[in-house]
Amino acid sequence: MTPAKRKITVLPGDGIGPEVVESALKVIEATNVAVEFEKCEAGARAFEKGIATGIPKETIDSIERTRVVLKGPLETPIGHGNRSANVTLRTLFETYGNIRPVRELPGVQTAFTGRKLDIVIVRENVEDLYAGIEYMQTPGVAEGLKLISREGCEKIIKLAFAFALAEGRKRVHCATKANIMKLTEGLLQHTFEEFAPRYPSVESKHILIDNCAHQLAMRPEQFDVIVTTNMNGDILSDLTSGLTGGLGFAPSANIGNDVSIFEAVHGSAPDIAGKNKANPTALILSAAMMLRHVGEGKAANDVEQAVLVTLESGIRTSDMIGVEKPATTTEFTQAVIANLGQHSKVSPPKDYRQIELPPAQLGVNAVPAESRRVTGLDVYIESDLNPSKLAAGLEQMLKPSPLKLQMITNRGAMVFPSNGRRVSLVDHFRCRFVLRDEAAVLADVEILALLGLLGARHRWMHVEKLQEFDGVPAFSKSQL
Ligand code: NAP
Repeated sequence: MTPAKRKITVLPGDGIGPEVVESALKVIEATNVAVEFEKCEAGARAFEKGIATGIPKETIDSIERTRVVLKGPLETPIGHGNRSANVTLRTLFETYGNIRPVRELPGVQTAFTGRKLDIVIVRENVEDLYAGIEYMQTPGVAEGLKLISREGCEKIIKLAFAFALAEGRKRVHCATKANIMKLTEGLLQHTFEEFAPRYPSVESKHILIDNCAHQLAMRPEQFDVIVTTNMNGDILSDLTSGLTGGLGFAPSANIGNDVSIFEAVHGSAPDIAGKNKANPTALILSAAMMLRHVGEGKAANDVEQAVLVTLESGIRTSDMIGVEKPATTTEFTQAVIANLGQHSKVSPPKDYRQIELPPAQLGVNAVPAESRRVTGLDVYIESDLNPSKLAAGLEQMLKPSPLKLQMITNRGAMVFPSNGRRVSLVDHFRCRFVLRDEAAVLADVEILALLGLLGARHRWMHVEKLQEFDGVPAFSKSQL
């Protein structure tokens, strides 16, 4: 009996998606690996049919069966309240880590040609601002929540080191903006510094994300693996793809414990869709990552080598710099297929090992604290009063309360007590109330009483408790 073929869900996607996905499928078929494709819909056409997530149920069912996806780019309708179908897919299947490798490719001319770049961004893929938790707090002020968990940080850092070990890489940088966002970005930095010593064979270093961008543009060869938060990783990985030839060459793997999704870093590039012009390299290399993931290491190496040989032979699509007679998507694909089985002269197959994924943690993950205390609360208020009038009214209101007004900020800048600084004001104030008795504990009943008093005088729309865990304040101080 012939063994069952491994099933793979294929999402052709939008724009140039169907062209580059078709190209990758033809290359995979030409390797003769025992796989079978289940083509499903997602993205623009699903949104048009009124499917709010952009992902039909049949697609979800297929992914749950196959657990491996090869995906084209999906368009995100801008500004209609629809969530990105890409982000939904990543969160739905908890593909928490996005691995985005780039390297110098033969025949692809860049400002860094000859410097042997080989950089991998390991991007946290489900948390951060990309969770898309947003509110209009007033008609003129929007809020986005940046949620970062210790659990998410641990998973992405372990994945970055597991990946570094699997590929025999020497160095992992952790890039954050922890100097400004001390609690959210700082959580990744601290978790990195805690876990890095467990991987003594890999050098580890923290770097601020802005300096990382600068260093990538100046001396990119110092980087090997860079682990970072979701939005930082999205931006940095487009930058690293630009260093090595552009988005047409940048593959990626969205790794989860149950499901993994392989796709190019690029989007649907609507300007070149349907013109047989798109560079399919990124998706073909994503397919190679997928083949390696499903245990078809030889086929993966063959595909990568065939791409390198094709580029070495001077066959180029129109996105490459200095191309006079560009190949079409179809011609490039045919060349890759014809080159299967050949080896690159400059870049022999690498010795890859399977990534040993950290085991999934089941149930609700909690970080314990021995002691906790609520010491006050921040209430966000919509008001057109000037800060001193607002403060005077609040102080008057608080006379019978155990709470006192500590400060008022406007978009983060302190406006009460006044420090004399001129602040451009909007009608959105954060009012911080703290206990008069610093050793006391603020009870919910007192918070509700305060909100009742406030609500009679002002529009409030958001409350945040000020907590202490094990005696350490769990909130940021205000900017002066
Ligand atoms: P994009 O689609 O990545 O395209 C940016 C530009 O990069 C294109 O205009 C094109 O440049 C070039 N390019 C990208 N891929 C190429 C390829 N394979 N071959 C040749 N050139 C390529 O970014 P975007 O225009 O910002 O986004 C368009 C849509 O894609 C949006 O709806 C966005 O939400 C979506 N998107 C989806 C994903 C995903 O599914 N994972 C990722 C990113 C964006 P030229 O102008 O020089 O031709």
